[in-house]
Amino acid sequence: MTRFSPQTQTSIDFAADLFRQSKHAVVLSGAGLSTPSGIPDFRSTGTGLWSSDEPMEVASLSTFRTAPEKFFKWFRPLASQIFNARPNSAHCALANLESAGHISSIITQNIDILHQKAGSKTVIEMHGTMKTLTCTQCYHQVDAETHLAAFVEKGDIPLCPKCNQTLKPDVILFGEQLPQAAWFKAQHEARQCDLMLVVGSSLEVLPVAGLPMQALDRGAHLIIINNTPTYLNVRADISILEDVALIIPAITERVLNG
Ligand SMILES: [Zn+2]
Repeated sequence: MTRFSPQTQTSIDFAADLFRQSKHAVVLSGAGLSTPSGIPDFRSTGTGLWSSDEPMEVASLSTFRTAPEKFFKWFRPLASQIFNARPNSAHCALANLESAGHISSIITQNIDILHQKAGSKTVIEMHGTMKTLTCTQCYHQVDAETHLAAFVEKGDIPLCPKCNQTLKPDVILFGEQLPQAAWFKAQHEARQCDLMLVVGSSLEVLPVAGLPMQALDRGAHLIIINNTPTYLNVRADISILEDVALIIPAITERVLNG
């Protein structure tokens, strides 16, 4: 077991108490949750794979439309990394909390399907998903694992099996609207919850970054676990600036086993 500083241990115990008392706890997860699984944050510049490209430009709807080969060249290593990534101890701990009835839903800014791979059931994907692709012409939706295999391996741009037009990964690109149904669900969850846990998000990307504020305004407790401070740490009941892959399992252990 990891030994934490007395201050961190107190925060972990307090967080576990809040989960035990909560009747409707919601998690908001961001890129920092998946970095221990080896997935870089594609929305921040200068990280790993994307240091040579400008993600805002290449990962945009307009690049996808006007220069799909450029988009897919950028997208290929990301797709490959995501397909090979495995959930880390924090994803697994959150799935355990959910199956024990301590989490109602997970709102995620991640596209990597790692919550689902870990066993989480109610996952609201705010920035889309790597699970599927949709035809830009006839809207036929296909499974990513089958239709991206040749692309990841050889670089062939994925084409619709029905009409042969380019398939677009169902991830939300820059310049694209958030999925409306997911946004409504996320807002509903933020307004209903009595506890929100923000994990691995620096709360910089709107409108998702505003959800914890909606929860706070209705009297919910707020826990923030991220390796850098966010604009809401001053209002959080608990904030822990440490590795999510250590802290989340420790909180879960305490909730489930006392
Ligand atoms: Zn089609």
